[in-house]
Amino acid sequence: MSDTTELGFDPDALRDKYRAERDKRLRPDGADQYIAMSGRFAHYNDHDPYVAPGYTRAPINDEKDVIVIGGGFSGLLAGARLHEAGVKDVRIIEAGGDFGGTWYWNRYPGAQCDIESYCYLPLLEELGYIPKEKYSYVTEIFEHSQRIGREYGLYDITVFQTRVTSVDWDAPSKRWIVSTNHGDRMKAKFIVMALGTATRPKLPGIPGIEDFEGHTFHTSRWDYGYTGGDTNGELTKLTDKRVAIIGTGATAIQCVPALGKWSRQLYVFQRTPSSVDLRGNKPTDYEWAKTLQPGWQRARRENFAGILTGQPYTEDLVNDGWTSIFRTVMAIPKSSTDSPLTPQEMAAIMETADFRKMNQIRQRVDDTVTEDKAAAEALKPWYRQFCKRPTFNDEYLPTFNRPNVELVDVSEARGVERITKKGVVANGKEYEVDCIIYSTGFEITADFKRRLGIEINGENGTSLFTHFKDGFRTLHGFSTRGFPNWFYIGISQNALSVNMTAMFDDQAKHIAYIIAQTQARQKSTVQPTQEAQDEWVKLIQSVQINNRAYLDACTPGYYNNEGNAGTGLAGGTYTPGINAFNALLEEWRKAGDMKGLELND
Ligand code: NDP
Repeated sequence: MSDTTELGFDPDALRDKYRAERDKRLRPDGADQYIAMSGRFAHYNDHDPYVAPGYTRAPINDEKDVIVIGGGFSGLLAGARLHEAGVKDVRIIEAGGDFGGTWYWNRYPGAQCDIESYCYLPLLEELGYIPKEKYSYVTEIFEHSQRIGREYGLYDITVFQTRVTSVDWDAPSKRWIVSTNHGDRMKAKFIVMALGTATRPKLPGIPGIEDFEGHTFHTSRWDYGYTGGDTNGELTKLTDKRVAIIGTGATAIQCVPALGKWSRQLYVFQRTPSSVDLRGNKPTDYEWAKTLQPGWQRARRENFAGILTGQPYTEDLVNDGWTSIFRTVMAIPKSSTDSPLTPQEMAAIMETADFRKMNQIRQRVDDTVTEDKAAAEALKPWYRQFCKRPTFNDEYLPTFNRPNVELVDVSEARGVERITKKGVVANGKEYEVDCIIYSTGFEITADFKRRLGIEINGENGTSLFTHFKDGFRTLHGFSTRGFPNWFYIGISQNALSVNMTAMFDDQAKHIAYIIAQTQARQKSTVQPTQEAQDEWVKLIQSVQINNRAYLDACTPGYYNNEGNAGTGLAGGTYTPGINAFNALLEEWRKAGDMKGLELND
């Protein structure tokens, strides 16, 4: 009771509420509720709205030193860093019609990166570019990926509109054979997989999904031919349309404002609300930009990452919603290094700070959504801050004050019940619509095979997915024994950062170093030794923070693999953090002995 009086809220009541909100959303089918965009659903994924249909070309059967699979930021960075390391005989293979990856595909209205642009956009110092705003919209991000492509000569070495179907190690020739949807059989000494993390969109397995006779698409393949307008809005063709959007994650938060503004009627089908905090975007102060000293981008990224991993700091350079969450919710008192707290004390402080933060988020809903009290109630997130990806937007919540926008809460039925030929059924009512937009996310933590969508067979024809069936086994997350000259950029037994491009850049540099060194030492193959790999796996297991209890208490989502936390993001990363991981790799490179790698003639 005294707790409640002092705090101004009742922690037990909040814990009970969080539990009840989680329980009502838990589904026995977990991650199986989603359907992959293959087979009869392949058109949702394979359709490229940005190129003319029917592209064909003759198959390619040549050989390269390195093939990079993927032309998003991770592939571009691999290309750029290989180039800098002196590895020139490189090819990039990209499924889209241009560079950009996520930012090529996800050009929905309002698409924006919620990580500060000065940290997020890679190679800013190398290219002498300063982003226009603190948070860049997709057009600027996409253009930046094109800039990297141009400046590093990557257009000349890339084949676009090409999907890799399999990658097979040919032991006699010590080459990888890369097969594609154009009948290519390209050979390469080295493979760098740079597929990104949100590559394959997914659909909810809602009964009747094939019956709908109106128009439909996934947010990652926005159909401007149907809606009119572009990523800046002006969806003029929707003014006489009834539109349904299913899903309210980070993507929907950004595109719902434009849909609300332009649709005759918009229904937002929400199972779990996002936490929506202040965005506060602002134009770049170019006077400030002039004061930046060489090395500023790395310093800024490290400062950001340091605060997000709870390291002591003297200055918060980014000073935004992300760092504020970590400063308050992680509640790392600057003095904690002077008088260390017990883990229990720390957990209690963090939980209280989390309750406070989420109370603010819920208050923000009440302050903003004033026209529809029921919608305001339903828009309040009842879970801890890191159960789902936090979002930041200043136009999303006010959209629910519009008379043409209706929030349909589908939490009680654990989702939309049915799709019919005319529309969407929820809570027993049919909502007739002209268009259904699926904002239902990506295969981010799904089964590795489903996420990659490429067959990968190493020595003795062993499938990578069989090899990893009990979990990743790598050295530093990049390579695995039995798959010589094969490298992976992504989230796999390395350190995680919400600033993905910074993470990918350091991974790309490290991989480029290993490839360049293997060539300089005139060796044919490189792969981890069994001992080094075992040691790394053991180290990763030993540093895992057991946050299973935290994730188990969360409403379902991809962070906890739809309620099966043991298999979600909880496992398999280097928890001392990205700065510590990068320092470890730098030391490793400085030693110059390629420790833990086996190089063969
Ligand atoms: P999410 O996976 O975050 O959201 C999917 C949404 O679909 C959820 O709201 C989910 O509800 C809902 N849903 C799924 N099935 C049903 C159903 N049967 N009935 C009703 N609703 C359903 O996908 P997003 O595309 O929004 O975001 C994916 C990730 O992409 C983000 O987490 C982020 O990492 C990244 N991203 C990053 C951005 C950036 O600024 N850097 C911007 C946009 C995306 P429920 O929560 O209940 O499962």
